[in-house]
Amino acid sequence: MATDNNKFQAIISHCKEYGFIFQSSEIYDGLSAVYDYGQNGSELKRNIRDYWWRSMTQFHENIVGIDAAIFMHPTTWKASGHVDNFSDPMIDNKDSKKRYRVDHLIEAHAEKLALEGKKEQEAALLQSMDNLLAKDDFDGLKKLIEDNNIKCSVSGTANWTDVRQFNLMFSTQLGSVSDEANEIYLRPETAQGIFVNFLNVQKTGRMKIPFGIAQVGKAFRNEIVARQFIFRMREFEQMEMQFFVRPGTQKEWYEYWKAERMKWHLSLGISADKYRFHDHVKLAFYADAACDIEYDFPIGFKEVEGIHSRTDHDLSRHQEFSKKKMQYFDTEINQNYIPYVIETSIGLDRTVLMVLSEAYAEEDLSTADKQDSRVVLRFPAKLAPIKLAVLPLTKKDGLPEIAREIMDTCKKSFRCFYEEKDAIGKRYRRMDALGTPFCVTVDHQTKEDNTVTIRYRDSMQQERIPIAEISRIINEAIDQ
Ligand code: ATP
Repeated sequence: MATDNNKFQAIISHCKEYGFIFQSSEIYDGLSAVYDYGQNGSELKRNIRDYWWRSMTQFHENIVGIDAAIFMHPTTWKASGHVDNFSDPMIDNKDSKKRYRVDHLIEAHAEKLALEGKKEQEAALLQSMDNLLAKDDFDGLKKLIEDNNIKCSVSGTANWTDVRQFNLMFSTQLGSVSDEANEIYLRPETAQGIFVNFLNVQKTGRMKIPFGIAQVGKAFRNEIVARQFIFRMREFEQMEMQFFVRPGTQKEWYEYWKAERMKWHLSLGISADKYRFHDHVKLAFYADAACDIEYDFPIGFKEVEGIHSRTDHDLSRHQEFSKKKMQYFDTEINQNYIPYVIETSIGLDRTVLMVLSEAYAEEDLSTADKQDSRVVLRFPAKLAPIKLAVLPLTKKDGLPEIAREIMDTCKKSFRCFYEEKDAIGKRYRRMDALGTPFCVTVDHQTKEDNTVTIRYRDSMQQERIPIAEISRIINEAIDQ
């Protein structure tokens, strides 16, 4: 798999240097796999979230949004299967005390084999692992690790514990008495908040099948192997939509949502060859069909979004555990049924990483007599944290006053940034590094003819335009 670790590291450094993403509690040496979004990262993330939200609830007349609580009744997670099944097989190295997810440990070894040119051995190892995982054969997995002499990267030994299941949900206590009955979970996915509100929304919104419920919110998973920056975090955000359909129509809706979600991904200005579908061969027992949309990150093709045809499994389980009917009366066919569900589930943070990976470019601008380069984030205008920088050429001669007037007009429609310090070239480069698609410079000619120089981030071209045109140009770019 082609990876570009240098690019990945460069993106991480850039994110820190330019106020996109910081490690959580950095002054205390950070908290593993938890990150904070800075002044520019939070704007980028919000723009992506808003764009997804609008795409779902505004562009589709039959999808509404909700905002459910993170804490839910503990029985929710029994019904959903998370208490019993939301776990990964783990193994500990007895010498280093380091814990590994078994599949990650074996996959890392397989990657090493591939690098050594041992392609057949790699394929055989992965195949054996898949077979054993499918059968939940933990003894077999341990034997596979031992037979392949897979060692811990910290201790360098192959002194392993048995393979055990490890639940990924975080739990805490509700109320002040710490007794078992009060144990509740931080939700590991947002979907269940939608399922338990299915009837509330259907009835109060008078929704007719097919219809969808969308939600964006935090989810928490005690990921064991939590590296790769914001790709795998312990606290992250999901954007999920459950689409409720008549049983028997799920195949066509599954195909519809596959196509619709891919269209959305392409609308981020990312080319089709950077995406691929990964159809699941091994399905959960209740699932009809499932696939992932994978993006070609600098660390290889990886999942950004899952699309699942989940039959009536979730609503049936909630009906069973809550003893409340989860049925819908379909007036078109005069029948009561539990709807089937197509789910689209995308990680917001992974989408931020995808957009950053796609946008990040280091460009060599050297000429015969001058060495030069720039780092630019080529965000689509609609996602850029700052849309317009307003730059007076100098701090005097009334230029800042005109620039301020432009700011006052434009900031009502989109986010602008004012800067008068440093040479203009330096200011342009700083805006490139933040991904600002447009800069306008106010100079002495502005005082004479009410025009400014607009400078385009991607082409670095400049042209003169009337002040009155600025808003239109930028709004048009944002709407694309
Ligand atoms: P993975 O196989 O990478 O662990 P998953 O298949 O468990 O992911 P889902 O449960 O389908 O993921 O969650 C839907 C989406 O939520 C994923 O496609 C991903 O974008 C995002 N997501 C899941 N876990 C994490 C995490 N730990 N950190 C960041 N995003 C996550």
